[in-house]
Amino acid sequence: MKEQIELLVKLQEEDREADRLKWQIRQGPERIRVLGKELQTIEEDIEADERRIQDLKKSQRQYEADIEDGLAHTRKSRGRLMNIKNNREYRALLKEIEETKKENTAKEDMILSCLEELEGLNEELETKGKSLIAMQDRIKSEETTINKEVARFQEELSDMEKSRKNLIQTIDSRLLAKYKQIKARSGGIAIALVYNATCSECHLSIPPQMYNELQKQDTLKLCPHCQRILYWKKAEAAA
Ligand SMILES: [Zn+2]
Repeated sequence: MKEQIELLVKLQEEDREADRLKWQIRQGPERIRVLGKELQTIEEDIEADERRIQDLKKSQRQYEADIEDGLAHTRKSRGRLMNIKNNREYRALLKEIEETKKENTAKEDMILSCLEELEGLNEELETKGKSLIAMQDRIKSEETTINKEVARFQEELSDMEKSRKNLIQTIDSRLLAKYKQIKARSGGIAIALVYNATCSECHLSIPPQMYNELQKQDTLKLCPHCQRILYWKKAEAAA
């Protein structure tokens, strides 16, 4: 029984290591997905800037066209001024010319503020473009690292599975079934080391009678509290 339990302890170690490797392998694509998301954020930011630049250029063209219209209108009005005899009409037309002039000045100011914003955006875009390229390079190299790591974990796992198969063949089938059953209902840990007459998994005391029997190592004992297979080792007890 002692040897059989020791084989189970070894099996448990391998199972835990295999679970750890499987978890690492699953993390690979997730880590790559997170990196892709970071890249996407910068790309979307750049796209938003580019859209804003297009909008600003469109506004600028519109203001320029409006100013041209205003100037043409003013020229026409000035021509009409010569032929007006009525004082009231003359003043009204002068006022209208003055209004158009004011509107054009306002539009010139708008063009200036468009140009100012465009200049800022172009500078920002240049910086963002550089950091995009840097990030693309970084992600490429991180992806390579992650893929290499995952490949290494997969290799380790397949070695582990081979050794596990061999190990399982040396374990009594009824004992193995019990191990699997306890593992499934005890959060993946079927075997508990006993140290100082205490179960190392549930941290409760083993009754003295059972503790004495356990040290003989000739029968299978389950923890009376957590129902895991108890494992006692002389060296561990002395340590
Ligand atoms: Zn226990």
